[in-house]
Amino acid sequence: MRITLLGTGTSQGIPVIACDCAVCRSGDQRDKRLRVSVWIQTQGKSFVIDTGPDFRQQMLRANVRDLDAAIFTHQHKDHTAGLDDIRAFNHRQQKDIPLYGRLEVLNQIRTEFAYAFTEKRYPGVPHFELHPIENQPFDVQGVTFIPIEVMHHKLAVYGYRVGDFTYITDANFVSEEEQEKIKGSKVLILDTLQKEPHLSHFTLPQSLELIDKLNVPQAYLTHISHKLGLHAVIEKELPPHVHLAYDGLVLDL
Ligand SMILES: [Zn+2]
Ligand SMILES: [Zn+2]
Repeated sequence: MRITLLGTGTSQGIPVIACDCAVCRSGDQRDKRLRVSVWIQTQGKSFVIDTGPDFRQQMLRANVRDLDAAIFTHQHKDHTAGLDDIRAFNHRQQKDIPLYGRLEVLNQIRTEFAYAFTEKRYPGVPHFELHPIENQPFDVQGVTFIPIEVMHHKLAVYGYRVGDFTYITDANFVSEEEQEKIKGSKVLILDTLQKEPHLSHFTLPQSLELIDKLNVPQAYLTHISHKLGLHAVIEKELPPHVHLAYDGLVLDL
């Protein structure tokens, strides 16, 4: 399985217009973050988790040629806004692209991209196939996804485990029961916004505590705000098995 980090930032964390902070002015490519998304290649299939506002740019940058499905964590705009551009894959592959997510997520997609669901559709609009999921393992073309229900303030969000890989973004709470599903993963990617307390995202101290508790051998932090600090500086503060993720990072497992 190959995991490509397409984006590791947040809507607050990408270099902000006119922001003079050290991260936004940094010349280190690892400080330049698009909105969070991962590309999963496994068993000859190609999946993306979330299609944020930078989706098109991410598909081009990573040279994604085919997409078998998109799987959603939640309905916030930084995770869905780029969905319209999936039309390029419809055209290329000559098929509807299946979307997987909680019913609330798919309902929001139906509202926000209403033109893709009307009876008489304008030629060229994106074509989706909606697959509502609940908190139980589901199969996407032979690949098993295990949802992990986490809390993003008051919103239930799904993280996903695929084999030995677990991806959790937009969370500040994981119940004991859901933590059990993560245990045994070889790689965990975990939401870590900044050092200071935040209403709906894990902070660096909270993430390190959870990683420690779950006892995963390798963890990468994502959904990073410019407030967290420079990649090169923060990376040195982390334990040896924990790293800051960055756009373009590839993990083979
Ligand atoms: Zn969110
Ligand atoms: Zn987010």
